[in-house]
Amino acid sequence: MKLLAIPAFSDNYLWLLHDTRHAIVVDPGQAEPVLESLREHRLALQTILVTHHHPDHVGGVAALRDATGAHVVGPARERIPEPLERVQQGDVVEALGLRFAVLDVPGHTAGHIAYYAECPGDVPLLFCGDTLFSGGCGRLFEGTPTQMLASLDTLAALPGNTRVCCAHEYTLANLSFARAVEPDNAALRDYSTKCEQLRSHSQPTLPSTIAVERAINPFLRSRESAVISRVAAHAPHTDTRDEAAVFAALREWKNQF
Ligand SMILES: [Zn+2]
Ligand SMILES: [Zn+2]
Repeated sequence: MKLLAIPAFSDNYLWLLHDTRHAIVVDPGQAEPVLESLREHRLALQTILVTHHHPDHVGGVAALRDATGAHVVGPARERIPEPLERVQQGDVVEALGLRFAVLDVPGHTAGHIAYYAECPGDVPLLFCGDTLFSGGCGRLFEGTPTQMLASLDTLAALPGNTRVCCAHEYTLANLSFARAVEPDNAALRDYSTKCEQLRSHSQPTLPSTIAVERAINPFLRSRESAVISRVAAHAPHTDTRDEAAVFAALREWKNQF
């Protein structure tokens, strides 16, 4: 099974997974770069997986469906161009011989979902849209801090070797904020150096892994005492006994950063 990150717009990745004959694409905000990749690798598009309703994630769905006849799967509780199979927590999507478990991860949008698959003979895969980014998380456009914290907890509980396929290359900006939050985190420093090298060669920093994110991502570390004390120093009125309040203050700090 091969995994490709197709760049689109200024910083999106359209993830394409294929077995050399059939393919899945996730969140195709644009059709053309996907069609190009399908032609180049001589692939038939079998399934389109959608995580949430934002245009940079669904803009190419209709054109791709028309061009390929692919089956479209998306969140049960969001407005996505019909027809599609609507799925939610507890559902399983079978594609390319894999079984993708659907996870409800509200916060960035109200009905955001993620897709997780164990890959026999390989490490697991997570397509998490705009919920979890490397070193960061999505903005809270429709959900509450409590919801986003629970969604990130769900993702952080996946196996450490899970490949984290985020929808945007936001890593370097996220890591400069992460270093402001945790200046003494050695794993974060090493990871930043590695990602800067990748970007200086125009390589994606993704996929990341759940183990890396647990070690370096402040939004998965908002219960660490080092993070709590920095948040309290930055936003002194935060109730540090309330984990959702700490998370909210951390997210607000990033919004202003
Ligand atoms: Zn989005
Ligand atoms: Zn997006």
